Amino acid sequence: MNKVHVKTGDTVVVLSGKDKGKKGKVLEVSPSEQKVIVEGLGMVTKHVKPRQAGQPGGIVKAEGALYASKVMVVCPKCGKPTRAAHKIDGDGKKVRLCKNKGCNGTF
Ligand SMILES: [Zn+2]
Repeated sequence: MNKVHVKTGDTVVVLSGKDKGKKGKVLEVSPSEQKVIVEGLGMVTKHVKPRQAGQPGGIVKAEGALYASKVMVVCPKCGKPTRAAHKIDGDGKKVRLCKNKGCNGTF
């Protein structure tokens, strides 16, 4: 199983594409596809067919999957994107460590 560097609930920033620089919360992670769904980002338009004759079809917007490699985790402490290091805290729990200078935030 391939691991994705972000988790559900993380805040991430988009590194490329039309949503470059935008931030959002990770709603879903798909390790097999190496993709993530981010709240309010990567929006795609879907056409919905009318259920009954005579009713108009609709257009709805929904979050489309983004490649995990195109997003970066935002540190909740300093609010900046970081390439987090992994470490084990005192309780033996896996945490991520912010590598931004002077931050040392864990999340
Ligand atoms: Zn930080």
